[in-house]
Amino acid sequence: MHYLIIGSGLSGLSVGASLLKAGHRVTLLEKTDVVGGLARSFRKDGFLFDIGPHIFFGKKMVARLQDLLGGDVDLMLNDRLKEAIYFDGRFFKYPFQPKDLLFKMGKGRLLKALWELSVRNLWRNRRLDEYDNLYDWTTSKVGPTLFYYTGLDSYIEKLYGLPSDKISSDWGKQRLKPLLGFRLWRSILRGGIPSKKQQRAYTHYCPEGIGEIADSLARYVNQNGGIIRLNTAVEEIQLQRDAIKNVTVKGSNGISGMTGDYVISTVRIVDLVKMLSPAPPKAVVSAANALRYRNLILLYLIINRPRVLKNCLVYVAERNTTFKRLTEFKHFTDKAAPEDKTTLCVEICCNPDDDIWKEKDDIIFQKSMAELQGLDIVAQQDVEAYFIQRIPSSYPIYYLSYRNTLTGIFEYLAGIRNLVSIGRQGLYEHDNMSVVIRSGFELADRLGQSNSKNIHEVSEEVYSDRLNKYAKVM
Ligand SMILES: Cc1cc2nc3c(=O)[nH]c(=O)nc-3n(C[C@H](O)[C@H](O)[C@H](O)COP(=O)(O)OP(=O)(O)OC[C@H]3O[C@@H](n4cnc5c(N)ncnc54)[C@H](O)[C@@H]3O)c2cc1C
Repeated sequence: MHYLIIGSGLSGLSVGASLLKAGHRVTLLEKTDVVGGLARSFRKDGFLFDIGPHIFFGKKMVARLQDLLGGDVDLMLNDRLKEAIYFDGRFFKYPFQPKDLLFKMGKGRLLKALWELSVRNLWRNRRLDEYDNLYDWTTSKVGPTLFYYTGLDSYIEKLYGLPSDKISSDWGKQRLKPLLGFRLWRSILRGGIPSKKQQRAYTHYCPEGIGEIADSLARYVNQNGGIIRLNTAVEEIQLQRDAIKNVTVKGSNGISGMTGDYVISTVRIVDLVKMLSPAPPKAVVSAANALRYRNLILLYLIINRPRVLKNCLVYVAERNTTFKRLTEFKHFTDKAAPEDKTTLCVEICCNPDDDIWKEKDDIIFQKSMAELQGLDIVAQQDVEAYFIQRIPSSYPIYYLSYRNTLTGIFEYLAGIRNLVSIGRQGLYEHDNMSVVIRSGFELADRLGQSNSKNIHEVSEEVYSDRLNKYAKVM
């Protein structure tokens, strides 16, 4: 089989590498001039940067990657407990450690929080399936006192631009699960001391930046007969009855057509829908247009000081700051900056039509500097240089009815027998690297187990898994 893969982020590369290993032909089509998508690294003036912080979670996936790549990926163990969250004018350890929280929140608030966690929590848990929004779901678990005190409400609003009662509970089920319920209680009963598992909390990073993972996968693809065509944007996908017949790409040599037996798309699902020709029914196109994304502005600072943060990254939950997270890459790898200097990445989320998205770079810099100075993190005279990157559609927004919207789109796409849409953008998932890599591996397995008669069922299974992913998490 010849697979055409649209996009060379971690989803495209991981499924491509696994399909090659299984003996198939693979061609990846990438519109930019580099591989890695959101998980890439770059050097500028001798400093090493990622697209925001990129920590690799999950030691099983490290082993699987090393196995596939014959050890040709350098993932070193990192210290998860060096993250922090800033709210109430102070830094707290993140992931939250009950001891840290309980001692800093004051007696009155602590008693209220414990009451909500116990008596109130038991009462509300009986109706968990009714909680479709994030506010109800989270407060049913930890109570409003902890929810507000830890700045979760303001952090979520900064991230998604919507209040927590307008966000689906899927977000909590996906991203807050480890912090809530049984595990939180177990920690409290242990006197707030993190368990051995928490202390070990496996995260990994690469010495030359997180982009090494994509580079290693791309090397594997190239060395094993796969093709990666950079600067090649897919513009149109022509259908004949229920199958793709031709893919039109725009590359350095102009427009050309490509054919393959099966197409795997990792681009935004809305873009995929718009590429299809003939166009899908109006209802599908308007469903795709209804999907909402949050853009990201990354302000990178080069600083004339050896270090500025105690932690590798800090979530800033305070409402009165524009940014939502700060990352000092030097905590991940010494190669990020020379000994006497450091760098900081300041993340600001916004909607595509917000003024700040189109704001001049120096205005964003001045505003952020005023806030950073206010928090006593870095003074403007220490900043040697800065630059800004704008990342559109970096976060799919889990608004309340997003799953209904996706259902209609998936039903249509599942009717195209040689197409599947995967990855963060392709499945509209706010997911991390190990999840998208695992999904790539799993897709290659599923395709390997299918034959020409039942291959159309593969995409049905992928879409059904996506829609039901959080159904069992209470
Ligand atoms: C700020 C930020 C911080 C993050 N931090 C972490 C973290 O700490 N840990 C973690 O595990 N994960 C993190 N993630 C998530 C992680 O980056 C993603 O889950 C992962 O990189 C998604 O890979 P992907 O291949 O699915 O998508 P993408 O990386 O988006 O890849 C899609 C690719 O398709 C290409 N493309 C688009 N349109 C076309 C077209 N028409 N033709 C051809 N090619 C096209 C794009 O150029 C891109 O290369 C973070 C994400 C962000 C935004």
